[in-house]
Parts: sequence; structure tokens; C-alpha cells
Amino acid sequence: MGDHNQIDAEEMNSQPLIKGATQSTIDLIKEEIGGPEAVLEALEHAVYEGIDEGYCIACGSFYGNVEPDARRYPCGECDQKTVYSILEIFS
Ligand SMILES: [Zn+2]
Repeated sequence: MGDHNQIDAEEMNSQPLIKGATQSTIDLIKEEIGGPEAVLEALEHAVYEGIDEGYCIACGSFYGNVEPDARRYPCGECDQKTVYSILEIFS
């Protein structure tokens, strides 16, 4: 009859969104796009115009236009399935 089955929401939110992504690579990609404001702009382009760029979250390589829901695409640089669209990385 107790309330012992509650899920700790805070713990759930602390789970990494993308497996293999480190904050430093995310920052690197952010810099490559041109800073936080450019990231927001790029996300808007992705949402409204379907122009979505892909980056490798392991090595930061740029992959040009990809599907908006691209995830786990193979990276030619580091040979891992770590290419994600910016929508997947930042939103
Ligand atoms: Zn890579």
C-alpha cells in the first residue's frame, strides 16, 4: 500500500541522450556550426526547411545533409555508427 514504485524522474533525465557522445564533442560540433546561436538557426532550418546536417558525435566530422531522423549512421572517419543529424544531437 506504499508509494515505493515511483520512478526517480531526476535520475531518468540524467541518462545520456546519445550513447557515445561526450560533452566535449558536442561542444566541438557546436563550435563547428558557429556557436550556440548558429546552432539554433541550423535547428530552425532543419525543422522548417528540412535542411538537416549530420555530424559524427565521436570525432566531430561533418557529413552534410542527412535525414532529419538520422541516427547511428556509419562514420567514415572513426569507423563507428556515430553520425547523427543535428536535430537528434541538439533537440
Ligand atoms: Zn567519426
